[in-house]
Parts: sequence; C-alpha cells; structure tokens
Amino acid sequence: MQDTPLTLTHFFDRAERLFPEKEIVTATASGRERTTYGTWAERTRRLGGVLDALGISPDGRVATFGWNTARHLELYFAPPCSGRVLHTLNIRLFPEQLTYIANHAEDEVVFVDRSLVKLIWPLLETFKTVRHVVVMDDGTGDQPDAAAPGQELHDYETLLASAEPVEFAVADENQAASMCYTSGTTGNPKGVVYSHRSTWLHTIAVMTMDSIGASESDVILPVVPMFHANAWGLAHAAVACGAGLVMPGPDLSPKAIAALIEEERVTVAAGVPTIWMGVLPELDGRDTSSLRAIPCGGSAVPRALSEAYRQKTGLPILQAWGMTETSPVASVGHIKSSLATRSPEELADIRSSIGMPLIGVDARIVNPVELTPVPADGETSGEIQVRGPWIAREYYNDDRSPQSFTDDGWLKTGDVATVDEHGYMRIVDRTKDVVKSGGEWISSVELENEIMGHPKVAEAAVIGIKHPKWGERPLACVVVKDGETLTKEEVLAHLEGRVAKWWLPDDVVFIDEVPKTSVGKFSKKDLRSRFEDYALPTA
Ligand code: ADP
Repeated sequence: MQDTPLTLTHFFDRAERLFPEKEIVTATASGRERTTYGTWAERTRRLGGVLDALGISPDGRVATFGWNTARHLELYFAPPCSGRVLHTLNIRLFPEQLTYIANHAEDEVVFVDRSLVKLIWPLLETFKTVRHVVVMDDGTGDQPDAAAPGQELHDYETLLASAEPVEFAVADENQAASMCYTSGTTGNPKGVVYSHRSTWLHTIAVMTMDSIGASESDVILPVVPMFHANAWGLAHAAVACGAGLVMPGPDLSPKAIAALIEEERVTVAAGVPTIWMGVLPELDGRDTSSLRAIPCGGSAVPRALSEAYRQKTGLPILQAWGMTETSPVASVGHIKSSLATRSPEELADIRSSIGMPLIGVDARIVNPVELTPVPADGETSGEIQVRGPWIAREYYNDDRSPQSFTDDGWLKTGDVATVDEHGYMRIVDRTKDVVKSGGEWISSVELENEIMGHPKVAEAAVIGIKHPKWGERPLACVVVKDGETLTKEEVLAHLEGRVAKWWLPDDVVFIDEVPKTSVGKFSKKDLRSRFEDYALPTA
C-alpha cells in the first residue's frame, strides 16, 4: 500500500476543493458574519504568506489568544499547513501561567482578538520570544497603541490584504502541528504537542458514528473553546468533512447560544456541563428540532441534566470523556443496540457513564500500584490508563513526564473509574481528589453530586481532611442557595440512605463559593489549602 502522509493539508484541500460554498458563521459584537470555506481557504493561504513575511521560523510556534471565530479557524490551519506549530493560549489561565507557557513554548508571534487586548497587554513584556503581536479586530475592546519593546504591532486584515497566498505542503506526518497546555491544577501547566498524524487520526475518530459522527450534513456549534483542548476536534472535523460551522465568538451567554442553535439550525452543539445547565431554561419555546447531538464532557455530567435535555428537546446529552493529553476525545457514551430496550431508568444510567473507548484508543482500569485490571463489576474502581495514536507519549520539554506514564507506555490519566460488564466506564473521581479513608476510597464526586441534589444547595465540594485513625475523612464544603438556610444536620440527613454510612462526611462547613480553576472546574487544591489545619469534630 502507499504511504501518503496523514497531514492537515489533506483536510484543508478537501474543504477548499469540495465544499467552497459551505458556510462558516461567526457571532460578533455587531451581528453574525458569514463566510464560506472557499473564502476561508483563500485567506488561510494568504495567512501562510503573512507568517513568511513576518519571518516566523519554519517550525516556529504561532500563538493565538482568541475566541471561536472564522479567523481562529484560519489560524488552526495556516501555521500547521506551512510547517509551523499552532499554540492556542488559554485565555482563562492565570497571568503567570500564560507567561510561563508563552516562554516555555517559545512563541514567536501572538494573534489576539481585539476584545481580549486588555487581558493580554500587561503580559506582553513578559513574553521573551514574541516578536510580533497581531490584533484581530472583532469589533469591540481596546485599541492598542503599541506592543512591548522589541515587539511589532500589526493589524490582521492589513497584513492579510498585502500578503501573497502560499502553497501548503507537509511531508512528514510526525511533524508537530499544534500544542496545548493543561490548565495545571498543581504546578506549572504541562505542554502537549500534537502531530499532524495524531490530529488526523483523532479527527477521523470524531467523525465515526459511534463517537460524535461529524459529517458533511452537520452544522456544528463548538461552544467548547478553540483555546482549550482543540475544541474537542470539532473544528478540524468540520473542515475535513465540509460541515457547516457556527462560531459563537465572545458571547457565551445561555441566551446567545440558544439563539444560535435555533436560528442557524445547528445539528451538533458541544460544551461543558455548566454551559448546558445555563442554556436549558433558555430553550423554552424555541425550535431545537435541528439538533441531533449535544456532546458534553470536561467534568462530570449530572444524570439529571441529561434527563432534563431528553425531556425538553427529545435528545439526551451525549457524554464524552477525555483530556488535553488525549487530543482530547477518548470515550463517548452511546447506548449499545443490545441494550436499547432497557428501561428508561437503566438507559439514563448508562448515559451517566463516560461510555466506551473510541475505536483507536485502548483503555484499561487498573489498580494503580500493581497495574492489575479491576474486575468489570461496575463497583471496583481503579485508575483509567489509555494508549493509542492520539494519546500523548510525554509532556513537552518537561521532567515531570515520567510520573504520568507507566513503564509499559500507558498514560496515567489520574481519573478513577469503574467498568461494568458491558464495557461502560464511570468516573468516580480524580486520583488526587478521592478521600482515602482506612485504606478504602470515598468518591468526592459522588458525595458532591448527592449533596448538590439537595434543593437548597447551590454548590458543594468534598475534600479529605487528615484524620489520626482513618488517614483521611471527608469534609463537605457547601454553598447554600441565595435566601435559603441549611444546617449540617439537614445535609447529613439528606445523604443518609443515598451513600454508604461510612462515607458520611465527618463535618459540613458552609462557604460563600467553591473556588474554581481557570477553566471553571472546582479547585480542590485551593479548598485543601484553606482547610489544611481544619480540626474535624471527634466522635
Ligand atoms: P485540566 O486538567 O486542565 O482540567 P483537561 O481539560 O484536559 O485538563 O481535563 C481533563 C479532565 O477532565 C479529565 O482527566 C477528567 O478528570 C475530567 N473530565 C473530562 N471529561 C469528563 C467526564 N465526562 N466526566 C468526568 N470528568 C471528566
């Protein structure tokens, strides 16, 4: 067989040649902008010319600091298809983390949406290798007058207007195409470099029917940001198959997203649970009949949320699991046809799992020390470890890599899960968050889900507190809904019968808010340091 390289130029060429009329819609501050793959491809080629004109090294890192837009999609392709490496800066990282990753990746140029100028400008002088700053005018935000010393400031459209379109060619499929950093709950973020080949294979996997099934007839709304974990591969997949794309831009309000779904006849809308929690009430009275899938992941997807969507739109949520290190999609929760006749209760239960590994991904759930597989009983938990052609082999220039990979080459995900007799995996917790009590594990996630099921609770997070006899015992940190009052006794009474007796938290504290990470997940690290010296009541 022939051995043509699996590179992103193939996806680019297809969109340019076969789907020039298909639309990319971007929501902006002043309304929706419409373009086509034909125009996008022409501009992307000229963007390749811009990178040459700016003198970006043949394998230079090209950083972006932007929302989901058609311009960002130009940047998804011009750097890799011209041999360079796209580095999407996560706009929600803390300033010192942004400085760290821009310097660690040695970014040469950064493309910034004007609406985000305010956020990044104070950091520019800390970006040691950046020589060019290109502002993409998205119609709102500050007009910058100068970049930091040693950096040239440019306007995107002016550069594009004067640039020559280039021919794209990448000979080696193992060449780097892009990179992302994890949002780093401990220490500095860690870099993951994706090759053309890994991105190619991940894209095809996202297009298989048993995963998200992206296809030409879809209109895809990636609410999930292009600056975090590759927008779950949906931007690449849309280009590869010529699907319509709806880019939400900066306005991620529930109302705006609901309007895009209805008015642009979106078929696939993907986002994290908090997005779908917000959008749900906004769907009242709207026509959502175009939707065929609502992929959701990034943190636990409450069963009640999926059921609420099923009741309102006829479409339950499609749960997916993955991480920056896994490109990111590694498993998706479809119902097997052999289980399709189960009761609605059982089906909802299956949907609350993270499903099965995608074709191409090997997953094992093992005791993290002995690496022996846990029984497929849906009860015994262990760490999920994965391997495959779009799973990271190491972190970029980072001596922390060995801790995250086993000697036999599997990625240690740090996620604790069970697997049942049908092969469905369920996330119990993250390894660092489980409460290790007397040699047994208590799932903080499960306790939180139960506590958050209480009608007076807005948010709840559970952490392990040092205990002289048991090693650790759970402490529940609860945020009460505005205008409500709640006592420790009520919380514990609510949990009784819902969880094993020995799981009941030793204490309940009421806090104003659960601290969040840069991407909006509960920051257990911050909670743990806040309650480091907390004295649990003695029985
Ligand atoms: P970060 O570590 O920066 O949060 P990622 O965005 O890569 O990085 O997040 C990956 C993690 O998100 C996974 O390891 C897992 O803990 C969590 N996660 C992803 N999908 C799900 C899901 N469907 N259910 C529960 N947790 C999930």
